[in-house]
Amino acid sequence: MAIVYLNGQFVPEDQAHVSVLDRGFIFGDGVYEVIPVYGARLFRLDEHIDRLDNSLNAIRLTNPLTRPQWKNLLTTLVEQNGTGDLAVYLQITRGVAKRDHALPSEPKHTVFAMANPLSPPNKAELLNGVAAITHDDYRWKNCHIKSISLLPNILLRQQAIDAGALETILIRDEEATEGAASNLFIVNNGTIITPPKGQFLLPGITRDLILELAQKNNLAHQEASISATQLQQAQEVWLTSSMKEILPVTRLDDAPVGDGKAGPVWSTMFDLYQDFKQQLRTQSA
Ligand code: PMP
Repeated sequence: MAIVYLNGQFVPEDQAHVSVLDRGFIFGDGVYEVIPVYGARLFRLDEHIDRLDNSLNAIRLTNPLTRPQWKNLLTTLVEQNGTGDLAVYLQITRGVAKRDHALPSEPKHTVFAMANPLSPPNKAELLNGVAAITHDDYRWKNCHIKSISLLPNILLRQQAIDAGALETILIRDEEATEGAASNLFIVNNGTIITPPKGQFLLPGITRDLILELAQKNNLAHQEASISATQLQQAQEVWLTSSMKEILPVTRLDDAPVGDGKAGPVWSTMFDLYQDFKQQLRTQSA
């Protein structure tokens, strides 16, 4: 059975229990991170901890652990959960308190982490791409916070599943921002474009790495808003996340994207991303 971390202890998953008064349970009052692990190495750990700090600051909760403590905790969690690729999920809530919207003056954080097997997508399986739909983005205006309150994202993603698609691309004020659980890229006249960071999208760790790889490899790229029309007319559309990596979207709202196959720029970026992962696996500890 998987070993999880809860408030200072590593225990089998079925022995980890949280109070019904936890503000995570009562209000969805907490934040989270998902960190891939390749060859027992945590992928972009510093960047994930930076984003965690930003989310915590935004919800006015202190980070209960220092960076070395996080490193230690997550490394131990990985060691306890086998040698394959893993997805580490960590969550911090504002802990147990009498139910009241007002923030407790001295929160007793709940810190939870688990590591589950991860099977990264395979290139051959991705060549046909995936389907996506578009939908009005009715989420709030703090989408940069990685909040555990995911009800809008869940309902929006389910609309895609109900339509036989994989993801919902969100449109706010005529602009495509991101997916319900992913960031958005398009390729237009050979240039890779993704919307700039801000309150309407999550600053994805995968997104930043793709921009870094584009920069290093002299691939034309730009952070710019993407209109709903540009999205519909794009040569390539990609969705990115730590779990999905880089998915080519080849059907959008029931119409083909480009020629209906994964595009050449996607193929180049996919390989660069895999090389980057491979370097991490083979780095000395
Ligand atoms: N946007 C949203 C709304 C997400 O939920 C996610 C993944 N959790 C992302 C973007 C991608 O972020 P990352 O690359 O850090 O996984």
